[in-house]
Amino acid sequence: MIQYQYDYRSGIGTDIHRLVPERKLILGGIEIPFELGLLGHSDGDVVLHAVTDAILGAAGLGDIGMMFPDTDPQWKDADSAELLKQVVWKVSQQGWEMVNMDLIVHAQLPKLGPYRGQMKRRIAELLEMDFANVNIKAKTNEGLDAVGECRAIAATAITMLRRKVK
Ligand code: MG
Repeated sequence: MIQYQYDYRSGIGTDIHRLVPERKLILGGIEIPFELGLLGHSDGDVVLHAVTDAILGAAGLGDIGMMFPDTDPQWKDADSAELLKQVVWKVSQQGWEMVNMDLIVHAQLPKLGPYRGQMKRRIAELLEMDFANVNIKAKTNEGLDAVGECRAIAATAITMLRRKVK
């Protein structure tokens, strides 16, 4: 049996977007029924933005703002899933494979429990990784701060990548 040696890198990502009326709520690549949605240059998907930044961090490739500047009209109302797919492709070209992705979604409302499985499946699909290696935790902020007052939703992501040592 061939034994490979791997290089491992961890990466972290966070994001926060304002909740406003008349926007769809897109979280983790899925649409969640709610009276408010996330404001942003793109679709405002904080979860995928945190995931994207964690991957870029682990691969040493900067951050999402450097790769897709919000001053560039090309990315206006961009589908965050498409941006993430580009990043997944880029890091795979450099030999990285995803080991795991662990996420916290900070939201007072809506209750995310019923959507957790669907979000996990979508993220695993976008990352081309096993469902079992994606973990999502949902937390309220106990009524405190912008998240707790339902003025924003935030996300934190941490990931591990590995690639074979040549
Ligand atoms: Mg963002």
